[in-house]
Amino acid sequence: MKTTAIIGGGFSGTLAAVNLIRLAQTPQRVVVINSGRPFGRGTAYGTTRREHLLNVAARNMSAFPDHPSHFFDWLRSRCEFDAMTDNELNETFIPRQIYGDYVRSLATHFMGPADPRSQVQCNVIDDSAIDIEATNNGSETGSSQTGGIVHLSSGKALQADSILLATGNQPPAGLPGADRLANDRRYCGNPWQDWHQHLPDNDGHIVLLGTGLTAVDVIVTLREKGWNGRITAISRNGMLPQRHFRGIEWPSVIPENDQSLSLNELSKLVRADCERLRGVSQNPAIAVDKLRGRTQQLWKRLSVKEKQTFLKQYAPQWNVIRHRIAGPIHDAVTDSLDCGQLKIVPAMIESLTSGATTIDALLTTTDGESRIIGGDYVINCTGPKSRFSDSGLPLYHNLFQRGLAQVDEMDMGIAIDDDFVVLDGTGNRSSFLYAIGPILKGTLWETVAVPELRGQAMQVAQAMLELEPMPVAPRETVEYCI
Ligand SMILES: Cc1cc2nc3c(=O)[nH]c(=O)nc-3n(C[C@H](O)[C@H](O)[C@H](O)COP(=O)(O)OP(=O)(O)OC[C@H]3O[C@@H](n4cnc5c(N)ncnc54)[C@H](O)[C@@H]3O)c2cc1C
Repeated sequence: MKTTAIIGGGFSGTLAAVNLIRLAQTPQRVVVINSGRPFGRGTAYGTTRREHLLNVAARNMSAFPDHPSHFFDWLRSRCEFDAMTDNELNETFIPRQIYGDYVRSLATHFMGPADPRSQVQCNVIDDSAIDIEATNNGSETGSSQTGGIVHLSSGKALQADSILLATGNQPPAGLPGADRLANDRRYCGNPWQDWHQHLPDNDGHIVLLGTGLTAVDVIVTLREKGWNGRITAISRNGMLPQRHFRGIEWPSVIPENDQSLSLNELSKLVRADCERLRGVSQNPAIAVDKLRGRTQQLWKRLSVKEKQTFLKQYAPQWNVIRHRIAGPIHDAVTDSLDCGQLKIVPAMIESLTSGATTIDALLTTTDGESRIIGGDYVINCTGPKSRFSDSGLPLYHNLFQRGLAQVDEMDMGIAIDDDFVVLDGTGNRSSFLYAIGPILKGTLWETVAVPELRGQAMQVAQAMLELEPMPVAPRETVEYCI
């Protein structure tokens, strides 16, 4: 019986397992190895806080590309949404905890013993994968069949014919000086773990390093907990995420068949489109939304130099426009700004030090001045570490050392082929390793959210089962569904 090991049990790994189970036509064994974050929920949906909402409307959060209303239908099984009309429920930004319940319920249904006809035996191991070793087994026919052994931090090992890397985002990168604060209760280096146990008194000052989605999570939780002290959020551009809005039908400006557009030409087209939108009193973010279905394709066509230019010149603004937040979340942040509780400081964070009473952030402001801001509690909200070559994760360190994988050309993840097969250290296709999720960021750029990941989870299952990709009816274009 073929064994597939899936490393990572967040959305991507769980849905890959679910798809293997629902598509398998021959007996299989699937083992999901997960640690660090709750199985099925992962980083995003493992939050313990009800006020953390999805940043995608319910209508676009189905876990299955071939069943677009699946999440909506599942929500209808919960009585708390009975009073909502279908339209209201579709447009609602549901608590991320409930989305975690959804993914867990899929795991329970598909991976449990409920269906005795299932071709797949499945189990979940609570352990951390730290290394993979390639094996070469001579099969009965004499041909060489490859696979790998996954080594776990408990000392155990697991032999598998195929292995899927679905390890999600890296933890946040450390900031200069942060390693000396590892045991300081006034510093939180990872905001995806419970940080709210150590809040200072209500007259205290919390400093957030970052002004993106993670900082927003922290701000809404502080308000929900009734914490009334001061908050300062610092980032290079000082930009907070924008609010979702209802837009209009709008034609795409990027020609479908033109493969030759340079980054310069693309950015001119998009800028002109933004101007046209402003001219009709519409939000220019519509121009970015219109690119969503084609972002991966456009990204892949750029040269490495153009991708680097994009990251330097355009990505900060792109991220603010693209990763928008639900109305109620935006309202909470705006209230906090309006009442003077929250201040935004645009500055470069140079280093962190432990002062007598505060943790001090040494900054260079936009006009080149040095400044120190001290916090009674300082939280690293800079988001996932993006560089992969110096990833502190033992699994990747070992995979690179063994030549079983290589970083992608942008050093933002690992290199893969079009069908999610990992490319080894010499650029050849692996015979047993696959990868999906945020670790494909350098290859695909748009690869962190459910609308892309559900497709990857299904496609990789089909590739691993050697099935023809199932045709999925193209979705009617729903504007502003991000
Ligand atoms: C705070 C936050 C909010 C988000 N909100 C949304 C949203 O509203 N809508 C949306 O579409 N997207 C959202 N996203 C994007 C999110 O990346 C995806 O939706 C999705 O959750 C990613 O799932 P994943 O399984 O790829 O990664 P993860 O959720 O990170 O799961 C990976 C799992 O693998 C485990 N793991 C890693 N390495 C190992 C190892 N070596 N051995 C064993 N286990 C390992 C991790 O601990 C974790 O449990 C959000 C992301 C974050 C961080």
